[in-house]
Amino acid sequence: MRLSRQYAPTLKESPAEAEVVSHKLLLRAGMIRKLTSGIYTYLPLGLRVLNKVADIVREEMNRAGAQEILMPMVQPGDLWKESGRWEFYGKELLRIKDRHDRDYCLGPTHEEVVTDLVRGEVKSYRQLPINLYQIQTKFRDEIRPRFGLMRGREFVMKDAYSFDRDDAGADESYKAMFHAYERIFERLGLRFKAVMADSGAIGGSFSNEFMVLAETGEDTIASCLSCDFAANLERAEINPPQGAAPCASLPLETVATPGKHTVEEVCEFLSVPPSKLIKTLIYLADGEPVAALVRGDRELNEAKLSNLLNAGMLAMAPPEVVKEVSNAPVGFAGPKGLKVKRLVADHELALGADWITGANAADAHHLHLDLARDAEVETFADLRVITPEDPCPRCGGALEFAKGIEVGHVFKLGLKYSSTLNCKYLDEQGKEQFMVMGSYGIGVSRIVAAAIEQNNDDRGIVWSPPIAPFEVAVLSLAGKKQEVADKAQEIHDALESAGIEVMLDDRKERPGVKFADADLVGYPMQLVVGDKGLANGIVEAKDRRTGERTEIALENFLENFKNWRTEVRNGWGL
Ligand code: ATP
Ligand code: MG
Repeated sequence: MRLSRQYAPTLKESPAEAEVVSHKLLLRAGMIRKLTSGIYTYLPLGLRVLNKVADIVREEMNRAGAQEILMPMVQPGDLWKESGRWEFYGKELLRIKDRHDRDYCLGPTHEEVVTDLVRGEVKSYRQLPINLYQIQTKFRDEIRPRFGLMRGREFVMKDAYSFDRDDAGADESYKAMFHAYERIFERLGLRFKAVMADSGAIGGSFSNEFMVLAETGEDTIASCLSCDFAANLERAEINPPQGAAPCASLPLETVATPGKHTVEEVCEFLSVPPSKLIKTLIYLADGEPVAALVRGDRELNEAKLSNLLNAGMLAMAPPEVVKEVSNAPVGFAGPKGLKVKRLVADHELALGADWITGANAADAHHLHLDLARDAEVETFADLRVITPEDPCPRCGGALEFAKGIEVGHVFKLGLKYSSTLNCKYLDEQGKEQFMVMGSYGIGVSRIVAAAIEQNNDDRGIVWSPPIAPFEVAVLSLAGKKQEVADKAQEIHDALESAGIEVMLDDRKERPGVKFADADLVGYPMQLVVGDKGLANGIVEAKDRRTGERTEIALENFLENFKNWRTEVRNGWGL
């Protein structure tokens, strides 16, 4: 391909709307353009990257025995009403009506549609297991679409769905997908980690997320330095504390703490460390006021609280509710006499009997509060966010924290959809059984952004070779010299005939512009063809990732180039 003919409008400055580096660089390198909030057009170079990611995903899904289908984007509301998700999905589901006033939605995911397909046709145990997948555009009306391709409203997902006879079969299907995902992320050339994840509202026995490691990631991963434990922070459990039973309680005391609402203010005022305090956090769980207690220096894990309470909807209570249940302004709630439906506490609080808490009265706190004596705690459970100082919940080893971007999610669904949508088969005895399902997503377009978040520098994108729009850029520094231009074209043609994807920068631009654009677009390998090099029988080669330069002799050029290419790819772990 010749750059002079390529539609790839690069920009010198980052557009103001872009906050994260992948979004900035995708715009600057001429790979995407915004149509409207969270909705983008892929320009030729961006589409090449997207397609390469999709091709690797497709090859590995096929290798794992999944079969590709293509389901519609527009889905009938009736099917969602049947599964019960029409009510529960909330505003991310974009609902529309047709001319007959019938309900439809744009598919944010396809459990309903695929289950409807299979229940109509798969009747016998002999037809199972099956795994069907698609690579298709999803629509989710995200509350805050942002970061370009990272969190779009319209985005490309690979979604696969497995149907098995029984639990053991479903576990096999799950494992096959897990291993396919490992191969996919290895082949993409990205550093990644598979972690245990929260199954959330979807439920089921297990779920793993695949994270691309990047400092800018929104998720935190806790992993053990001694064993293979790795979990999303949301999901990392903390074992119950071991320790001595609480000492004898002192009598409860109330002290004035005028205007001291926050943990810091109270600690400073009473000259105590935050670990002496209990924070009383008030939530609405499915509309009912509940409270969770954690130590003053800890952070509540909302996913754990939501799982413990089995809450469909969990949200911080608004100030009016806090005032009502605590009889006090915000900042003075405490466990003694709090008017909530359920009161739960983090299990480490069971180890103390001398806490400082809000007194459920304006400007007052309790001293020497003993939860066993002074409050009615329903359960003590694991409720807080793990910290790097906590031991590994599996082996007790030291933990390490890292940032990641969720690019894939595998779920064991069990009977959730097959039972609500009545998806059954006849077993060997002729008895009807529900199929056991799994669902497996990969954010194909999010991977494009995540790859950039992981690999970039101040000059631009650094693509890993398997997903680069072109693997090699040949920069022709011909000026007015036709023989240099001819040689650059010859090198381009030789590489192209050898099946290597190559872009020739044949524009009438200064060398500085060509270098800058090649670095910005992020071709992993650059070849610079100039008259000085040609006079010495070489072209200069640059590895975009390391910046290392080397000379490639023109004699036996293809062989020399391929050796260097192997080195560059090895550097990527490919
Ligand atoms: P998130 O927590 O980031 O919203 P999710 O749990 O809603 O993700 P899934 O329903 O598991 O995501 O979807 C499968 C995959 O699709 C995710 O792992 C992610 O890579 C991708 N994905 C989800 N939402 C978006 C989005 N708005 N834009 C781009 N990719 C997305
Ligand atoms: Mg989401």
